[in-house]
Amino acid sequence: MTTSASQVQRLYLIHVATSPSVPCYLVQTSDGKNVLIDSGFPEGFPQGFQRSPNLPPPQLRKNVVEQLAELGLQPDDIDLLICTHFDVDHAGRHDQFPRAEHVVQRAHYELARGGHPRFAGIRAHWDDPALRYRLVDGDTELLAGLELIETSGHTPGHQAVLVRLPQTGPVLLTIDSVPFERVFTPEREKGPFDDNLEQLRASTRKLLDLVERERVALVVFGHDAEQWKTLKKAPEHYS
Ligand SMILES: [Zn+2]
Repeated sequence: MTTSASQVQRLYLIHVATSPSVPCYLVQTSDGKNVLIDSGFPEGFPQGFQRSPNLPPPQLRKNVVEQLAELGLQPDDIDLLICTHFDVDHAGRHDQFPRAEHVVQRAHYELARGGHPRFAGIRAHWDDPALRYRLVDGDTELLAGLELIETSGHTPGHQAVLVRLPQTGPVLLTIDSVPFERVFTPEREKGPFDDNLEQLRASTRKLLDLVERERVALVVFGHDAEQWKTLKKAPEHYS
């Protein structure tokens, strides 16, 4: 049997903070591509950043660059960086990956570039002139076994990611469209950081349908500290 096409091989869950749990993800392909999903908090966080007063500061772990180094990877080894959205806990180190092609939903990029205050605080990190962006519109197969799922509601143009692994099967990374397992229901309410309830519910229904249709083997929720205790974290991986 010969398989020459690039296939998704491994998924690493990179835990950069606890309480709340804040992840990045690394996908590796059979032809040696490294795809990073999100980059975590910026250097120096939380000093000087506006935060919700009723949230405790996150317990930071090693940042994404340090954890990639433990996997033998330098920032320049990252080929693609999937930007799920530009919140402070997701886009704080994008500027440390200038060689990667950054992939974001056009609607999200244009909103943020237009100066939306929600994304302005860390603009220097995602709007560095050295960064190259690929703008996508809606659901997009980025490469074989790696799909971007448009899931507005938390923010306009938020994207979740479906990773089809050879042994585990399809894994859905909901990111912030569904931060906790307990809100993975059609009639959920808005959380404090969600932008639009109607879109949030539509995106949730879309993901519930996808889980059933694609027989998703594992759903990883965006900030679910309880679930994270049960998951394999880098340097371990799912294959
Ligand atoms: Zn988040």
